[in-house]
Amino acid sequence: MADHADNFDVADVAIIGAGVIGCSVAFHLARLGGTNVLLIDKEPLPGSGSTSKANGGIRAQFTTDVNIAMSLASMDILDALEDEIGQPSVYRKAGYLFLTSDPARFGAMKNAAAFQKARGVAVEVLDAAGVRARAPYAAGEIAGGTFGPRDGFIDPGALTNFFLREATRAGVRTRYGAEVTAIDRDGSGTFRLTTAAGDFRAAAVVDAAGPFAGRVAALLGVDVPVVPVRRHLLLSGPCPALPPEIPMTIDADTGVLIRREGSRVLIAYSNPEEPPGFNLAFDPDFPLRIAAPLDARFPAVGEAGLDIKRSWTGLYEVTPDHHAILGPVAGVPGFLVVAGFSGHGIMHAPAAGRAAAEMLLCGRSVSVDVSALSLERFARGEAIHESMVL
Ligand SMILES: Cc1cc2nc3c(=O)[nH]c(=O)nc-3n(C[C@H](O)[C@H](O)[C@H](O)COP(=O)(O)OP(=O)(O)OC[C@H]3O[C@@H](n4cnc5c(N)ncnc54)[C@H](O)[C@@H]3O)c2cc1C
Repeated sequence: MADHADNFDVADVAIIGAGVIGCSVAFHLARLGGTNVLLIDKEPLPGSGSTSKANGGIRAQFTTDVNIAMSLASMDILDALEDEIGQPSVYRKAGYLFLTSDPARFGAMKNAAAFQKARGVAVEVLDAAGVRARAPYAAGEIAGGTFGPRDGFIDPGALTNFFLREATRAGVRTRYGAEVTAIDRDGSGTFRLTTAAGDFRAAAVVDAAGPFAGRVAALLGVDVPVVPVRRHLLLSGPCPALPPEIPMTIDADTGVLIRREGSRVLIAYSNPEEPPGFNLAFDPDFPLRIAAPLDARFPAVGEAGLDIKRSWTGLYEVTPDHHAILGPVAGVPGFLVVAGFSGHGIMHAPAAGRAAAEMLLCGRSVSVDVSALSLERFARGEAIHESMVL
């Protein structure tokens, strides 16, 4: 078999998937002194999977310890890299505003805010007037809400490009158009990857294949429960009635969320009836699902109409408990899964990449406790429950 691994026979680490996660792993490996790293993607260009479809939100308003820890660690990394990344900034702290008209839900939101504050999250509880001051474009009854001033937006492409640029500058090698179709292990435990661009050998392999992570793991006979789920993002027509910058604004009663996209507004909603699958076709009925709640809560956006041609779909990579799988696989030494971020892969990429790099170089994650994200949690019945899923 041909070996295309340039001037090394066996890569120390082969990363399958050059999305934001694989690029972050590569970046952090390079920063922590790792060498001889190979980054592989099936597409001709990096970052063209789910990463290129994301809404780009980042928030620490969660209800599980590990989600909060991952968000805060990622925010710290992004702050520390701010000068190096330069302008335009990839991380804009425009905030996340959750609002509700339901007093009982507002009570739960206040409890969540107390939980978050106890873990170092900047979050403000707002009464109805406070919500209206932050979101004068929100109509209807309002009981209250919460606002996270450190939450906001990441430019997914710019962050991925930054990670990739710095990783390759530090010597990480890349192979695109190289779909991994088989993975074998020889007697010494070295992995052999069969790809569309030749075969490679590696001492360690990272599964960062996003929605395809389950398929990649299956090449080694490992069951990684990550399923693809289609998600729509709808672009409005020009919408001058809203301020030029608004927080990610979530109607917690319906799950409709909006943010600015230039002069327009981007609208998201999680369809509870969406079946798992790789289907990326735009569902013409989808806009009908959100029309009534959108018009009721954000009437100016409803009036702006939808620009269906410029709206799009992408794949969430979903695990049974909507938390990532990050860690080694029992019985397959050298194989690491970093996948299944369930809609949080952009925001958690900085911390996840660093944790994975630490595992590869030091044997464990030292910066964030990611033990709750182990693959084994499902077999042990230790799935994690997050109630602020969008
Ligand atoms: C509509 C939408 C909105 C979203 N909004 C947000 C948000 O607001 N905030 C947030 O944090 N996250 C959001 N996400 C989720 C986020 O996009 C993902 O969690 C993140 O991009 C996952 O990154 P990844 O690198 O794991 O996957 P990907 O970007 O999909 O990268 C995986 C890569 O693996 C490659 N690959 C797969 N199989 C193989 C193979 N066999 N051989 C070689 N290469 C392979 C693919 O080509 C791909 O490039 C959103 C997602 C969607 C779809």
